[in-house]
Order: sequence, then C-alpha cells, then structure tokens
Amino acid sequence: MRLFFLFLLAASTTSAAENRDAIFQKTIESLFPKLVEIRRDIHSHPELSNEEARTSKSVEAHLRSLGITDIKTGVAKHGIVAILKGDHEGPCVALRADMDALPIKELRSTPYRSQVPGVMHACGHDVHTTCAMGVAELLSKHRDLLHGSVKFLFQPAEEAMPATFKGDWGAKLMVAEGVMENPRPAAIFGLHTTAVVQPAGITDDEVHYLKAGQIGYTPGIDNANSDRFHIVIHGKMAHGSAPHKGVDAIAIASEAVMALQMIKSRQTNTRQPLVISIGTIHGGDRENIIAEKVELGGTVRTYDAKFRDGIIEQMHRILKGITEAHGASYEMEYRKTYPSIQNNLDLVAATLPAFQRICGEKNVIELTPGMGGEDFSYFAQIVPGFYFRLGVANEEKGIIHGGHTPLFDCDEESIKTGVAAMAAAVCDFLDSAAKVTR
Ligand SMILES: [Zn+2]
Ligand SMILES: [Zn+2]
Repeated sequence: MRLFFLFLLAASTTSAAENRDAIFQKTIESLFPKLVEIRRDIHSHPELSNEEARTSKSVEAHLRSLGITDIKTGVAKHGIVAILKGDHEGPCVALRADMDALPIKELRSTPYRSQVPGVMHACGHDVHTTCAMGVAELLSKHRDLLHGSVKFLFQPAEEAMPATFKGDWGAKLMVAEGVMENPRPAAIFGLHTTAVVQPAGITDDEVHYLKAGQIGYTPGIDNANSDRFHIVIHGKMAHGSAPHKGVDAIAIASEAVMALQMIKSRQTNTRQPLVISIGTIHGGDRENIIAEKVELGGTVRTYDAKFRDGIIEQMHRILKGITEAHGASYEMEYRKTYPSIQNNLDLVAATLPAFQRICGEKNVIELTPGMGGEDFSYFAQIVPGFYFRLGVANEEKGIIHGGHTPLFDCDEESIKTGVAAMAAAVCDFLDSAAKVTR
C-alpha cells in the first residue's frame, strides 16, 4: 500500500516537473535571440582573469533589469553574487558561472570573433555566463514556480594564475569573502562547455564529440588536482667557446626536463593517473654565451592528494640530484592550485532525471574523468556539488575543437540546453526539499 502511494507521488511529481519544463521551454525559446546577442557581446569582448570589469558590468545591468535587488558586486575583484527569491519559502541553491577568457589569439572568422587582440573566450566561459544570465531571467519570470531561492555566483579568474602569483583568486577568494554563507546554499551546480569527450567505458583513441543538445557527467571524481610549478636552474656564465669555465644551465635544464618525465614512466604506479607537463622554458642571452639561468614552468595533474605529495618529493629529488651532479643549483616554487572536483553521488542521482527529461535519456552521457583543473571544487568542498558538461560540438557547423585552442567555438543551440538543464536541476532540487507535489 505504501509503495503504491510512493508510486503515485513519484508519478505526480514527474508530471508536475514535465509541465514546468514545458512552461520553461516556451520562455527559453522567446529569450533565445536575446541570449545569443548577450553571448556574442561577451565573446567579442573577452577579458583576462581578474580583468572582467566590462563583463561584470553587463551581468549586473542584466540582473538589475530583471528586478533582482540582492546583488553584491566587486566580490573577489570582479565577481557578482545575486540572490533571486521565489514566491514560495524554501532552501537556497547556488549556480556558478565563470566569466574570464584566455591569452589565445582567436583563429575563427565568425562575425562575433574576439575584438581584443590575443585574448579569446577559448574555454566557453562566455556561454557559462550567458546560461546563468538566462536562468536568472527565466526564473525571474516564473518566481511562482520557485520554492526557495537561487544564489548566482558570477565568478572571475577561473583560469589558473602563474605559480609565482601572490595571494588567492577566483573561487577560493570568493569562498574566503564569504559567498557560501548568508545564506549557505544547500547545493551548488556548475556547467562547463565541452566539445570533445571520452565516454565512460570507451578506451579507444577515436575522437568523441559531446554535441549541442547533449549533457555529459561523471559520478564522483570529475577532474584532477591541478598544480603549477616554477623552477629556476642557476648555472654560471662563460664564453660559449670555453664551456668548462662555466656551468651550463641550458644543458642541465634539458636533462632535468627529460628526467622529470621518468617520474611518470618509471617511478610511479602505472594505475595512478599522472601528468607532468612543462609549458615554458626561458634562458640564455646570446648564442655564444653559456647561460647562467633557465626558468621552467609547468603543471602537475593527479587525482590522489597523497600521491601528489609523493610527486613533489620526487621532483625535488631529481632536480637536486641533477643540479648537484653538474655543480649547479635550483629553486622550485610548487603551488597546489585546484583540488579535484568530487561530484556528490546523491546529488548526481537526484539530478540526472532532470537532464534526461530535457535532453532525452540517450543524450545524457556518462564520461571518464579527465585531467583538467577547475576551481569549482572549492565550492563543492563546502556543500554538495554537481559540475556537469554542456555539449557544444556540431560537426556540420565545423564546431569540433577542444577548449583552450584558437579554433574553439560553441554551437549556440547549446545555450537553450544549458538554461533548461540548470533551471530544471535547481527547481527539481528545491521542489524535493520543499516536498512539493502540486
Ligand atoms: Zn579553461
Ligand atoms: Zn573553463
């Protein structure tokens, strides 16, 4: 008997959610041209981390135009926290959208391409910001369907700063400034535009796209502990024709670069995911002078925090050994940048039905976690979090490039899915917390 009632409850809740989806869908369709305009404006005016003044201003103006009054600006430099209250009492749930761009020269020739030389929204944060602005507008038109409140976190500086950068930034700084309190949200959602993925259970090297209209997710770990390091190798300058009178920092740095790769291939358990990449190398003043100093910059990616500590020790051992062997010395600044995201399993399970209603069951795809880094983890360490992937690829339109590349783009149809998925996730969560059956 009890089971029967539970079934009835589930059925009525599902149909109520479906009715709400249909109402939202109509509004999203009517908002879509405006959202495309907003996305194109942000895309063509990209701003680097901690410089998002213009983007922040347009987000603020948009929120004010919706009648939202609980708005705090200047959070963690250019961040915004805004609270939208529903007509009904209930808990608070948070949505996070990052706003910054990258120092990459855009190579696509779309009408909305970057107008800022050397700066590009190559990580899709323009679409994240647009989706959150869309959700704010949608829900502000349907406050009667909202059982609680939504806290919007428009975040600056998600893209990591160099290892030598002093102080905190982005999500970590927002948390330090109290954005997860007053009120503390019961859960947080974030999305990331994604074109190329590795579906769970598939180990081939084929390219798999996450298309506009699809959503990807990982239950549990989503991505890696993402760290930065900066190494300086000190040698001794000499004439290039008499290398024995100096200590060649370039030759020693070359040996160190190769030896650091031996950590992954020969010194750690192959079952532990690990990436050590060196992305910058600078040294030397002239062709015929033995270089006195070489600087190396790179990143380390791991899943396991204890394993990561072991890697740092191994790096020091290698650098110490190689530099001492050649009469040189070194310094390394190692910065544990972003912890890995752990999606909350209960929250994932409770949210997937919303995504399946929006996209259709076959278009909600479980993925293998990647080795990327994301500071959404700082929020998800405090309250249950779900960070999911918004498909943006479209082969017919030639939108097939991965993030952080000069050809990256997003099929704008994905904005509809992003807004619908976020809104449904939030409302399902608030409805179940408020035990709404309608
Ligand atoms: Zn990025
Ligand atoms: Zn990103």
